Amino acid sequence: MNPQESALDYPFADTLPAPGTSLAVAPGVRWLRMALPFALNHINLWLLEDTQPGPDGQPRAGWTIIDCGIANDDTRAAWEQVFTQELAGKPVLRVVATHCHPDHVGLAAWLCERWQVPLYMTVGEYGFARMMSAGLPGADGPAMVPHFRRHGLTDPARLAQLEGRKNYYPSLVPAVPAHFVRLEEGQPLTIGGAQWQVITGTGHSPEHAALYCASAGVLISGDMVLPRISTNTSVFAIEPEADAVGQFLQSLGKFAALPQDTLVLPSHGKPFRGLQVRIAQLREHHAARLDEVRQACVRPQSAADIVPIMFNRELDMHQLSFAMGEALAHLHRLWYAGELQRQQDADGVLRFVQRT
Ligand SMILES: [Zn+2]
Repeated sequence: MNPQESALDYPFADTLPAPGTSLAVAPGVRWLRMALPFALNHINLWLLEDTQPGPDGQPRAGWTIIDCGIANDDTRAAWEQVFTQELAGKPVLRVVATHCHPDHVGLAAWLCERWQVPLYMTVGEYGFARMMSAGLPGADGPAMVPHFRRHGLTDPARLAQLEGRKNYYPSLVPAVPAHFVRLEEGQPLTIGGAQWQVITGTGHSPEHAALYCASAGVLISGDMVLPRISTNTSVFAIEPEADAVGQFLQSLGKFAALPQDTLVLPSHGKPFRGLQVRIAQLREHHAARLDEVRQACVRPQSAADIVPIMFNRELDMHQLSFAMGEALAHLHRLWYAGELQRQQDADGVLRFVQRT
């Protein structure tokens, strides 16, 4: 546990639910943990006791699932175990996906089909999930090649790897349900008799939905507030001028107003208390990163030049694409703040330098 983590309170200590099992974390809320085949090796999903009208219009007790896991056999097998052992014989009534990333929405189509239930998402996340699952031009792996080349990534081997990632997202999210129920900022959602509220956020994904229940004192934070790692804030090809860090920092302000003792249920890491402490840590983290970038930009720097300054370690292609996106997002924050100016050099690469 690093010093920052030890400033947080973990009410369940090191207890984790084994794959295919669940752990009660709040009244009517159970924690599931599924494996991921990445450096980030797990995702937390949540089961909420719920009651919704059945096909005959009568109230039917069951479960609302929050987030889905990626589409692979291991995750489907873990879900099957959950269905037989953890649902107390009751059905799944609906599926909510906090956002469009593969670990969150990967199995949404399978879950919705299997239980014949609707998918709830914000329109921004739903649209992106559909676009990326279909591998549409501009939202696929190869679109990254000209984007990252323009930002100084010139290694032909790396660019060839990016070119080959055409099916990366569709391989993890082969399908997304053909229709959805819209979640919106501030929208009340009755789940199991309790009132939950949608809190949208940007900077990590287009329109991320976190869920807050004031009466239970619980925030399902998705990827917007994580206890150990900082949320990825990247500028990708489809929105090349984005101010992802600025958007993320602004979105954090919405969570800062929640009560101190809120139990935070994050998508990665362990449930914790200390939301305001964590938000302050994240703000300090980005301030320190921006400071590094600001100092480096005494002379012109591309995003590729910034990567080794911010990430002083070997990066595989998956990590490098996030590192490029993050480096660019920090450059953009300073550019939008008027501290840096952007120039396109004769080699076609965009570089940022302190404004004189
Ligand atoms: Zn995410």
